[in-house]
Amino acid sequence: MNPFLALAAHENVPRFDQITPDHVEPGISALAAELLEKLGRLEKEVAPSWTATIESLGDITEPLFTAWGIVQHLMGVKNSPELRAAHEAVQKDIVQASMRISQSEPIYHALVALKDGADWDKLDVVQQRIVAAAVRDAELSGVGLTGAKKERFEKIELELAELSTKFTNHLLDATKAFSLLLTTPEEIEGLPPTLLAATAQGENGAGPWKITLDAPIYLPFMEHSRRRDLREKLYRAHVTRASSGERDNLPLLERILALRQEKAGILERGSYAEVSLASKMAPDVPAVDKLLAELRAAALPRARAEHEELRTYAREKSGEGDLELSLWDIAFWAERLREERYAYSDEELRPYFSLPRVLSGLFSTARRLFEVDVRPADGEVPIWDPSVRFFRVSDASGRDIAAFYLDPYSRPENKRGGAWMDVALARKRRPDGTVRLPVAYLVCNATSPVGDQPSLMTFREVETLFHEFGHGLQHMLTTVDHVAAAGINNVEWDAVELPSQFMENWCYTKETMAALAMHFETGAPLPQGLFDKIVAARNYRAGTATLRQVYFATLDLALHRQPASPSVLELQRRVAADNTVVPPLAEDRFLCSFAHIFAGGYAAGYYSYKWAEVLSADAFAAFREVGLDHPQAVLETGRRFRRTVLSEGGGRHPMHVFKDFRGREPSTRPLLEQTGLL
Ligand code: ZN
Repeated sequence: MNPFLALAAHENVPRFDQITPDHVEPGISALAAELLEKLGRLEKEVAPSWTATIESLGDITEPLFTAWGIVQHLMGVKNSPELRAAHEAVQKDIVQASMRISQSEPIYHALVALKDGADWDKLDVVQQRIVAAAVRDAELSGVGLTGAKKERFEKIELELAELSTKFTNHLLDATKAFSLLLTTPEEIEGLPPTLLAATAQGENGAGPWKITLDAPIYLPFMEHSRRRDLREKLYRAHVTRASSGERDNLPLLERILALRQEKAGILERGSYAEVSLASKMAPDVPAVDKLLAELRAAALPRARAEHEELRTYAREKSGEGDLELSLWDIAFWAERLREERYAYSDEELRPYFSLPRVLSGLFSTARRLFEVDVRPADGEVPIWDPSVRFFRVSDASGRDIAAFYLDPYSRPENKRGGAWMDVALARKRRPDGTVRLPVAYLVCNATSPVGDQPSLMTFREVETLFHEFGHGLQHMLTTVDHVAAAGINNVEWDAVELPSQFMENWCYTKETMAALAMHFETGAPLPQGLFDKIVAARNYRAGTATLRQVYFATLDLALHRQPASPSVLELQRRVAADNTVVPPLAEDRFLCSFAHIFAGGYAAGYYSYKWAEVLSADAFAAFREVGLDHPQAVLETGRRFRRTVLSEGGGRHPMHVFKDFRGREPSTRPLLEQTGLL
């Protein structure tokens, strides 16, 4: 039996013990055919009511899209040539099914009639928002189009989906294809033991050492290698990934941009940026420009000063009075200055952040703030890799309310880089009144355990775990009964990072740190001096870090706000001139690996990170104001956060949700204060 076709497969956690790439094509095709058949029937009898539109649609679409979610998930965590081929083979079915739904005129007209009809007031606020969003999305999907325009629109969507998959595969292959094999003591000078252990090809940690472009290898190498020539080599390889030969992403991304612009034209919008913002919390492009301009104004002079300071430092330490910092020198010297100024390094902190201890600190923080318990439930469900964990979440009364998988370690041979939270199952109240509990995937790329040592994390990896757990909390603590707005569903892109970035803040509080930082061998707590330095170091080079995000966001918006003239590379140069301190190399093809906007959902939406940071810094300030050392006040504020942001999720407009939590509209002041840029 194909596990995708088992009765009510979409009601339970996926059968990772049974699913193979062979199941993908027959399973997805059959589910797609079934969906189309049922959709055809619904279209004949659809009426302007909640049950006949949103509810019926949910029932019809869930089996296919739950199965597709599993395939997408496996593409990220268990990639293989067989899976890719199967994925490519059925992508057309998925795009066509999605198009059929979003382009269904009978359903669109029924939704519009529902919205304008007498029954509208009988819907609750969540239902109204779901219907309004469905009407908006239908319009953005070209539902009103006819004839040649409609045909062209469908072709564009299909080609865009293929292009983004190709973009990702090129990037993955190009990342895998490059490595530096180091053999001599001179070549590994400065490299920390963790990096050496992780890259050693010989027995018992002996060389040669294989340095790759995989982030947990690339980043520490750039920070620590004393060999400027090797850093340059690696840096150049990194910024030119997927930019030549068979894996060249440049023609793909140019085509993507042209198709998006054409799509905007068909929808009678001025640019793709306008299409993107139609479903965001930000009202329009000028509002985003304003936010970026405010941040740039604060960050640019600070970033320049930080660069001057670093150059002076590098000249003094290297003894080269005329040293100019190249792009491959910055991470190295910045790390030296950080070590000197804050007198700690990632390597010094690692022993205090063993994954098991960090997890228990994270879970106790969740209990302290939101009154939820997390307990291991390994072995209760099938997993896709032996290192994957499974946990259940219960509320104060001991009742199970959610569950999640955790895939913690980097696995470059078949797993994508980065970290993310994704939905395995969304919360749903079934017709019989019972509730299907939400299940999340939390995926990180932390350093793997070496030998019999536990995974020893960098502080950044700890923060990332908190971040993804924040997304997970919004997914898992939702109280919305309708899948379409449960958890992170239907949350505007630029508000979606609110709970995740909010959770990161707790890593800088002594209460949380006391719960998670403990030496993995001696059990000693993190020394107070080290903690103080972590907090002080948070805003180290904050101008540079902010400017980097402003650069990406401005570039993304520039690429999507007008037809692509000048060329994308010329546009990148122009944007870089106003948004960087050291301009990129002439050969820089960063755009060829900018998967966020070319293969993810961030097109004309990269600014969302900063938009949401304003919200998250302001939300965290609410806890600071009541006093982090007042458990009762923190708990009450946490309850309010859970009742609003975490519970309501996509059920209400994010501005209303935020105001219910904070008692006022968001302010940028807490973010500027938090980053020391005020
Ligand atoms: Zn996130």
